[in-house]
Amino acid sequence: MSGKTIVKIKNKYRTDYKSGYPLITKEAILNVEVLKTEGEIIHIVDEQGQFLGKGYYGLQNKGYGWVLSFNKNEEIDQSFFEEKIAAAVSLRKQFYENTETTAFRVFNGAGDGIGGLTIDYFAGYYLVTWYSKGIYSFKDEVIHALEKTVSYKGIYEKKRFADTGQYVEDDDFVKGERGEFPMIVKENGVNFAIYLNDGAMTGVFLDQREVRKAIRDRYSDGKTVLNTFSYTGAFSVFAALGGAAKTTSVDLANRSKAKTIEQFSINDIDFEAQDIIVDDVFQYFKYAVRKQLAFDLVILDPPSFARSKKVTFSAAKDYKNLLKEAIAITENGGVIVASTNSNAFGMKKFKGFINSAFKESGTNYQILEEFSLPEDFRTSKDFKEGNYLKVVFIRKA
Ligand code: SAH
Repeated sequence: MSGKTIVKIKNKYRTDYKSGYPLITKEAILNVEVLKTEGEIIHIVDEQGQFLGKGYYGLQNKGYGWVLSFNKNEEIDQSFFEEKIAAAVSLRKQFYENTETTAFRVFNGAGDGIGGLTIDYFAGYYLVTWYSKGIYSFKDEVIHALEKTVSYKGIYEKKRFADTGQYVEDDDFVKGERGEFPMIVKENGVNFAIYLNDGAMTGVFLDQREVRKAIRDRYSDGKTVLNTFSYTGAFSVFAALGGAAKTTSVDLANRSKAKTIEQFSINDIDFEAQDIIVDDVFQYFKYAVRKQLAFDLVILDPPSFARSKKVTFSAAKDYKNLLKEAIAITENGGVIVASTNSNAFGMKKFKGFINSAFKESGTNYQILEEFSLPEDFRTSKDFKEGNYLKVVFIRKA
């Protein structure tokens, strides 16, 4: 961590960094050619050479690195990582004390002061996710800082390096005790089967915790529920536990069926009383219209981008049409849960999609409630894109 590279920022972007924006974007850099090795410490300066911030070079989506400190005198060393991780852990004190929820996010990237790094907690185990080779080069410092701050059973990691665009296949085990998978964790009293050693995803997206709880506690009793893009069926499990008359889960991935059966089973729900369908959601909508099916509660939680044999879906372009298809098979008076994790647009634009979809469907609607990221997914006011989750509960009039 010695040495530094001077990265010049175009004047146009100077005020962004002056006011605390942490992501170093390619278009902001004047002299990209000086960047050689991911993980190198960089100082960003303006065109006049005045210090703006210091951070690291790491390729992550459109980013070329992250500012870690706006203080010229702060060193990016072992104690830097220890302070950031200790602060993050102490902010999650209530989460550690809650016995009904044993899985949560401990460290949320730029929101906790280190872009490109997340750490999740699963019942005594930690999962560290590295979003670039750059941040991965600080592995020793980060793991050491974590060990100094918390006690643990075991540590796992996921490498999701952006220049390959995806998860790097690996053993994923770092140190401590190996876990036994599935590991059963709890969320608001509900069981989840978690795999820390099985590819990019663990089985549950922790950021939807409050949405799942709302669905169970206030929207499911006696209702027919359609859960699209259902993955392991987490929303369906909460709906069933909330008293749903029946849940229908639809996902394109073959393995989603066994995964969903597993999540129902560990919660003593009879999966045979539920529908679990492996199909393209857009095909299923056509089928539902043909069969004149209609649901009381329809959950839409697509990925930001998806490619299937027939359709390419991009939330920014296609969410409105997805909503229209959902509106067509929602009972009058029923509820649509529209969710997106796309950081390509904000809540205002998302509500615009909702408004157009209902207008074009000739239907009135009422927004019942909204969710964004839960508290453990800490975000920074200086990095608005980090607050990606948008969930709107809408009643079809
Ligand atoms: N809603 C889920 C997470 C969704 S992850 C949850 O809360 O846990 C996105 C899922 O969409 C993946 O499981 C993927 O297999 C599925 N998917 C992507 N494109 C699809 C399509 N066209 N039809 C059905 N499922 C799709």
